[in-house]
Amino acid sequence: MSTSITRADCVARDQQDPLRSLRERFDLPEGVIYLDGNSLGARPKAALARAQDVVSREWGTDLIKSWNTAGWFELPKRLGDRLAPLIGARAGEVVVTDTTSLNLFKALAAALQIQSTGPNAARRTIVTERSNFPTDIYMAEGLTQWLRQGYSVRLVDSVDEIPAAVDADCAVLMLTHVNYRTGYQHDMAQLTRHAHANGALAVWDLAHSAGAVPVDLHGANADFAVGCTYKYLNGGPGAPAFIWVPQRHQAAFAHPLTGWWSHAAPFAMSHGFTAVDGIGRALCGTQPVLSLALVECGLEVFEATTMAAIRAKSLALTDLFIALVESTCAQHPLGLVTPREHARRGSQASFTHPHGYAVMAALIARGVIGDYREPEIMRFGFTPLYTSYADVWDAVAILKDILDRESYDTRLERSAVT
Ligand SMILES: *Cc1c(COP(=O)(O)O)cnc(C)c1O
Repeated sequence: MSTSITRADCVARDQQDPLRSLRERFDLPEGVIYLDGNSLGARPKAALARAQDVVSREWGTDLIKSWNTAGWFELPKRLGDRLAPLIGARAGEVVVTDTTSLNLFKALAAALQIQSTGPNAARRTIVTERSNFPTDIYMAEGLTQWLRQGYSVRLVDSVDEIPAAVDADCAVLMLTHVNYRTGYQHDMAQLTRHAHANGALAVWDLAHSAGAVPVDLHGANADFAVGCTYKYLNGGPGAPAFIWVPQRHQAAFAHPLTGWWSHAAPFAMSHGFTAVDGIGRALCGTQPVLSLALVECGLEVFEATTMAAIRAKSLALTDLFIALVESTCAQHPLGLVTPREHARRGSQASFTHPHGYAVMAALIARGVIGDYREPEIMRFGFTPLYTSYADVWDAVAILKDILDRESYDTRLERSAVT
């Protein structure tokens, strides 16, 4: 490739990489460069034995006793406590449960409820970005329409419009910390401060942040947060999501999904609902134990390093990828949509190309797995736990080859999942 960075340079950087040994904790197929950990994290090796143990011993042998003896009932909280340090939360403030969509619904319902009883009771809008992940907007719209009290969702078209949109009618500012398409990272502390100064609560979606970038929810004084465990946290396909309710909001935390798991005495089987104290209020019903159990295998890997070390390598990987793409593929119509500024960048690098879908399909066919997001965006996620500098070099060499030879098929039909 016509660049000053050689593959040997990348191999040398890998030898100096303090996270290098963590790749051994993951099972990745031979010949695959996996740049899609932002969508579905790779499998921790430990997950296979854990799944086997849950199915054969905990379920097969110990049967229903396992709710107590294997700690199934406590699992959402135990995992929440283990996840908490990654997002600047404290023990007893996080549960792993349900989906991100559902947890967002609970957080928004609770935030609107808190606002409705104070000096901001007349406020009726939830402010978010049009570029937010669609399910977040769908859930907010579903909730506001269901309430039939004049609530609505206000969409803004750029980051610059957010401050003014937090006006006298704004009850909640709901933002996704790192944008799923562009990788743009908001200044959580500053926007939360702005929301509070203007009477709004701040709800954060950490789907592309947890395990990807350092997050300090308490430092930012955020109000509620939700996020995924199947992306950068490597919890497995469809693994339950998480919700954070800080201690200061727990007594007032109320949502309409008042299932028996959030009851003060679920096995009293009593008539009438009494919410349990603490983070257990964020639960609803029986959890998928198999999926939940595997989340622990993903979290364990993070305990062998720090988010600061992960962030340093993430920025180095994305810097390298951007530099190599821009120097070796300069004659092709690629456009970087991810911020160059480190503070504003998540752990991905996205490029537009007029035939982005076809080029990504060609990359995947050659073992470089990223993904595609409308419109025209090729998205490459970088997971420092298992991605090497040589992987980055090899991925760009294959991209360059595909583009130079135009070896992609522009008539491809879209798959159901892109
Ligand atoms: C991935 C993602 C989700 C996924 O929601 P689920 O309910 O788990 O399917 C939600 N919001 C954002 C911002 C995401 O990136």
